[in-house]
Amino acid sequence: ETQNNINDISREKSAELYEKAKTYFPGGVNSPVRAFKSVYGTPLFIQKGDGSHLWDADGNEFIDYCCSWGPLILGHNNAQVREKVIEVLQNGMSFGAPTALENELAELILTNNRFIEKLRFTSSGTEAVMSAIRLARGYTKRDKILKFEGCYHGHSDSLLVKAGSGLVTFGETSSAGIPKAFADETIVVSLNDTNALDAAFAEFKGQIAAVIIEPIPANNGLLLQEKAYLQYLREICTQNGTLLIFDEVISGFRVGFEGAAGYYNIQPDIITYGKIIGGGLPVGMYGSSAKIMDHISPVGTVYQAGTLSGNPVAMAAGIAQLNQLLQPGFYEALNNKTTAFANAIQQYADEKGYHFKVYQIRSIFWFAFTDAEAIRAAEEINPASMVDFKVMHRELLNRGIYLGPSGYEVGFISSAHTDDDLAKTKQAIFESLDIVF
Ligand code: PLP
Repeated sequence: ETQNNINDISREKSAELYEKAKTYFPGGVNSPVRAFKSVYGTPLFIQKGDGSHLWDADGNEFIDYCCSWGPLILGHNNAQVREKVIEVLQNGMSFGAPTALENELAELILTNNRFIEKLRFTSSGTEAVMSAIRLARGYTKRDKILKFEGCYHGHSDSLLVKAGSGLVTFGETSSAGIPKAFADETIVVSLNDTNALDAAFAEFKGQIAAVIIEPIPANNGLLLQEKAYLQYLREICTQNGTLLIFDEVISGFRVGFEGAAGYYNIQPDIITYGKIIGGGLPVGMYGSSAKIMDHISPVGTVYQAGTLSGNPVAMAAGIAQLNQLLQPGFYEALNNKTTAFANAIQQYADEKGYHFKVYQIRSIFWFAFTDAEAIRAAEEINPASMVDFKVMHRELLNRGIYLGPSGYEVGFISSAHTDDDLAKTKQAIFESLDIVF
């Protein structure tokens, strides 16, 4: 136990709700990391979000840096998103038939993204990635896929192999219930290691349908790759007739409207998106060239479908959100704000001689308890450092700052975070660091 100069926040109502929830849901939650297993206290049950702020069932107020794990780039309850959703849902909630809203969101995306020509909407990132993998396999007529240790691509069978935060947090590197035969089709290599890539392509020559990567890996800490490495990946895929899939469920529309593909100016073969395009409602999508996408049913023979795919209310939220991201200067302001925030914290830690680094790219940041200037592969993270995160997490909650409840998760800044929010947050972080070290 650390010394604590501020009383722990009250969690009476949250604890009561959690006891009930445990009788309904495994671990009391509908997604594992929400259970606060690797930080102090019971999970907070959230009652309301507005702008950059959250309120829990006990009335505690927080400045939120989880932002629903990334979708809320405009903050909670954005007025234009809310109004568009209300307008559209007056006309009904789902038809299982095409609507003009799907065209509108697709057009918004495709006319502002140089890297894809056609797309398909799904209802989650998991579905988008699962479908992209099937498309790659159908297109190349090969079975194997290659992924990277620490990258998370949703919870479909082939991809839950050495897959990042939710699993690392619980001390596992894979999931039970995945047939060995499926996992055998997934090759896993370390990030930032061209020799490992060469070896895998040599061993499985002519068998790899796709390489899938989070070009900005953000599910096992923030493991920023060098551009040269991503370019190498592009080349080796092209040479081997393997499709390169960028999983941009986090980085898409986050590091810029064109995501990591635009940031690094690298053309992948297929891109998956989610989170931000739904404005807080359930949406995913995958996109590619028209030539590759036309292998999808009903034109081609790769099957993929969804009762709620392209749901009008979700499309409405996406349209209202993306329109705001396209306003001139939107990303520049957000990026500058986050860079100044990260730099100020780093400067404080350096002055005090703390073993602490803020890794940051655009409006994504990660706190690492280390001296390393860069961590580029999952194996470089010291699991013991998560104890420091745990203390920091508690101290920050006590000071009204909400971070995702795992040290392997990144934080997000939204356009709703004000200078005052960021100043308060910096002060709380300084105090928390003083307690940790
Ligand atoms: N891919 C990446 C890179 C993700 O970060 C996530 C979720 O965090 C997914 C896929 C899965 O998306 P969803 O949780 O919407 O199924």
